[in-house]
Amino acid sequence: MSEIMPGWFTEIFQDEGTGFSLKIKAKLHEEQTPYQKLEIYDTETFGKLMVLDGCVMLTTRDNFLYHEMMTHPALFTHRNPKKVVIIGGGDCGTLKEVLKHEGVEEAWQVEIDERVTRVSEQYFPELCTANDDPRAHFFFGDGIQWMQDAVPGSFDVIIVDSTDPVGPAEGLFAEDFYRTCMTALADGGILVQQSESPLLHTRTLIRKIHQDMLAAGFDAVKTLPFPQVVYPTGWWSCTLAGKGVDLDTFREDDAENRPFATEYYNAGIHRGALALPEFMKRELTRD
Ligand code: SAM
Repeated sequence: MSEIMPGWFTEIFQDEGTGFSLKIKAKLHEEQTPYQKLEIYDTETFGKLMVLDGCVMLTTRDNFLYHEMMTHPALFTHRNPKKVVIIGGGDCGTLKEVLKHEGVEEAWQVEIDERVTRVSEQYFPELCTANDDPRAHFFFGDGIQWMQDAVPGSFDVIIVDSTDPVGPAEGLFAEDFYRTCMTALADGGILVQQSESPLLHTRTLIRKIHQDMLAAGFDAVKTLPFPQVVYPTGWWSCTLAGKGVDLDTFREDDAENRPFATEYYNAGIHRGALALPEFMKRELTRD
């Protein structure tokens, strides 16, 4: 915990000159896994908080925004998603959203750090309710290697629910990795990646993601912004890449009449997220 204010957890974004704080009731867990420092706190107003290497990953109160937007726009854009893989996503929240889709026959979670999943089972059991679903499969290892070894054309949707592009996640934000995803996807397949803050990262990271996805052979790329209170600037994004898919349209009736509950996602939210702010349009289309 930061010593800036005793009793508060503070994540400092040094380069941006900002920070984010939550008032803490107690530290519940701390360990150094083979990959990262993993901490769990109980907060005054946001429920439990997971922190990896000092970076906020999720809280009980607002994780639905991220997990739903990482999942449903891609799955309702795909014609008929049956086989899905999540790279990272060790807290299991994305897996839970994916398995809400009855048509999904098989969902893999490929997480490098098994401890993230085990600790989530203990402190975020509500995110792990689909872990015993017979369609759920777990592999604990590096997602970059796993994707290289995947059978060509074997997946409909690939969701990259990773940490920031440093350390083990760095290679997940690269043309070479996107190329392996392109190969692993069947025709009509969709790759979706968490792509950080529109305000902070459009000129740099998001622009590069677009260029790299197109260079890897995807024929359409689209970034969807959404709110995420606990991440830098409170505004986040996911970027979709399509293999022979129009990302500007989706199964609107199915999204509207979905037979499962969501807290944020609906067809109107999806339509709205397809509208890019002017500064993003400009940055993502300039030469
Ligand atoms: N919502 C979070 C965010 O954007 O801050 C991400 C949540 S999830 C906990 C991210 C997971 O990605 C971590 O558990 C981390 O261990 C995993 N990860 C990072 N690099 C990976 C890789 N190369 N292969 C598989 N999993 C990876």
